[in-house]
Amino acid sequence: MADSDKTLFQKIADGEIPADLVYQDDRAIAFRDIHPQAPTHVLVVPRQPIPRADAIEPEDEAVIGHLFTVARTVAEAEGLSDYRLVVNNGEGAGQTVFHLHVHLLGGRDFQWPPG
Ligand code: IMP
Repeated sequence: MADSDKTLFQKIADGEIPADLVYQDDRAIAFRDIHPQAPTHVLVVPRQPIPRADAIEPEDEAVIGHLFTVARTVAEAEGLSDYRLVVNNGEGAGQTVFHLHVHLLGGRDFQWPPG
């Protein structure tokens, strides 16, 4: 794949852009958000560049499930028992990077409903 075709998060996964990685395996990576919204703010990202939640196909179900077990692993490593997992789907919902990712936020109290 030409470098220009890669998403920002693919470039991080491929080590082309530095990131504060907290977890990686053959299917997913997790790294600290550059603009943290909580004491712990980690992005859990599939290596596969699925652009957004509404582009998930049935064959992606295993990797999507894996993101949640990675999130649990990272949360435990961060000492979190209560935390929030967020997926923004589309610009109107706040998505800015079109490579699917789960936000793991913890270390403070949260409001409901979210803003
Ligand atoms: P979204 O708004 O749900 O798409 O989330 C994208 C997130 O990526 C935002 O919280 C950004 O702060 C974060 N982000 C953007 N660029 C970088 C980066 O280079 N490293 C780490 N996080 C980033």
